[in-house]
Amino acid sequence: MTERAALVTGGASGIGRATVALLRERGWSVVVADLNRATGTAAAEELGASFSVVDVSSEDDVAGAVARCVDEFGRIDAVVNNAGVGGAFGSLTEIDVDEWDWTFAVLVRSVFLGIKHGARAMRAAGNGGAIVNTASVAAKSGGAGPQAYSAAKAAVLNLTRSAAEELAADRIRVNAVCPGLIVTPLAVDGAAAQEKAAAVMARRQPWPDMGRPEDVAEAIGFLVSDGARFVTGEEITVDGGLTAA
Ligand code: NAD
Repeated sequence: MTERAALVTGGASGIGRATVALLRERGWSVVVADLNRATGTAAAEELGASFSVVDVSSEDDVAGAVARCVDEFGRIDAVVNNAGVGGAFGSLTEIDVDEWDWTFAVLVRSVFLGIKHGARAMRAAGNGGAIVNTASVAAKSGGAGPQAYSAAKAAVLNLTRSAAEELAADRIRVNAVCPGLIVTPLAVDGAAAQEKAAAVMARRQPWPDMGRPEDVAEAIGFLVSDGARFVTGEEITVDGGLTAA
């Protein structure tokens, strides 16, 4: 039996990977759940975690990853619903319905499933727990990201608050992080993405450089810790002042 165990979705890269590293440093056992088998296996091996190939939009996959954590480590104390994609791009008058639905499946259904199955397991064990959902500053303003992405992240914040209210009686806390511009493949892969990030920074972000995945992992690390015992239904924004400006 281990002291603390967590499931981190999207743990193969970026913010998720940095979160896995931080939790491992703090003695947690971790299941990395990610769609990418190659990067997921490599991250898990390097960081001393377990790896499950998971599509977070699939209920069977998410339920299976929660069960894996409980089977392997005897418990599940935290679920970090973090996996994400940029989603549907383009004008609202042109976006394909399937692309729109896929964006919401990967960004919102996934969080619902992580809450549903994570909280069931936590409730059954009776020890409480913590769930952290990775939203975005895009949740707070329509123009901060592609339209489907921004709408989906806003839904994640609302879901965070509802879940916090419903699960408080079981001492299960539910919070969110809202990253701004963070150097990960999602934000900086390709010249177009880099150009967009540089333009947003120049126009709106007071802090002189982009955030690091570790900056967001620190906030997640706090939210799953006992230090956040009385914090639920909240969000921590990690954005170099982007939304404050
Ligand atoms: P990333 O691309 O480095 O990591 C995302 C991970 O999610 C990848 O390992 C990918 O394989 C995995 N993934 C994608 N679809 C999946 C699926 N269906 N099932 C399971 N895994 C899947 O990106 P990141 O920037 O670390 O993103 C992590 C979270 O942070 C996302 O929810 C993203 O929306 C959010 N976010 C990022 C930024 C930023 O600037 N990087 C800003 C705000 C919010």
